[in-house]
Amino acid sequence: MLYIGCHLSAAKGFLHMGEEAVSIGGNTFQFFTRNPRGGKAKAIDEDDVKKFLEFKDKNGIGTILAHAPYTINPCSKDENVRTFALETMQDDLDRMEYIPGNMYNFHPGSHVGQGVETGINMIADILNKVLKEEQSTTVLLETMAGKGTEIGRSFEELKNIIDKVELKSHLGVCLDTCHVYDAGYDIVNKLDDVLESFDNIIGLERLKAIHLNDSKNPFESHKDRHEKIGEGSIGTDAFERIINHPKLADIPMYLETPNELDGYKHEIELLRNLKKEEE
Ligand code: FE
Ligand code: FE
Ligand code: ZN
Repeated sequence: MLYIGCHLSAAKGFLHMGEEAVSIGGNTFQFFTRNPRGGKAKAIDEDDVKKFLEFKDKNGIGTILAHAPYTINPCSKDENVRTFALETMQDDLDRMEYIPGNMYNFHPGSHVGQGVETGINMIADILNKVLKEEQSTTVLLETMAGKGTEIGRSFEELKNIIDKVELKSHLGVCLDTCHVYDAGYDIVNKLDDVLESFDNIIGLERLKAIHLNDSKNPFESHKDRHEKIGEGSIGTDAFERIINHPKLADIPMYLETPNELDGYKHEIELLRNLKKEEE
């Protein structure tokens, strides 16, 4: 089953996002928990949540993905910045329990010069503080392009974070196709090798979501600029192999390409046409 959707604006609530997703041929979606540049989250509208959960069931919408704001940096040198990340993530995860059983993705952060090891310890430390035994949300670490001092540029770095977290059962990874290609994982020519390496280092059972983005930049450029599907350096053929790869079946996929709703609708249609029917 292909679960596919795109990033949607949360401004008009959950039900609206569900309806929008379905209107463009999607059966899942991603949204920011609050303004991506930070700031306070809107109060949860319990009536909207209730209507959304009914709509989700009725329309076969799969697991949805919340994305933390970009501004948080769980491995900043500055303790106040780390505290802000901790409080934001804690608040987001509390709110996620209104829509139980879904996923929350965040960027591990940038160590800004203090070194990868210190950064990894700080990220694990925050995860050990925010993860609760009883929570129903799976928290995902996103694979990063390796821009500047970003942590998460390699599968090893993500594995090192996971190893230091106590409640590992609540942890997963979101693989961003643009980011991994920019980071130097050749998903265009060696998809099988990349997935094998992910499996050996992290374990494919932790791969819970995929961000489908083409890249504006060449292989290993460490840039992180998303392009429309088929218009970048990754290309349509590679996406055809990705969405049809047996090891990636049933993993929900989210577009974060530079598009308005119409463009997303077009890309979802394109990808659905590339998907080979299961027997
Ligand atoms: Fe992201
Ligand atoms: Fe992404
Ligand atoms: Zn990106």
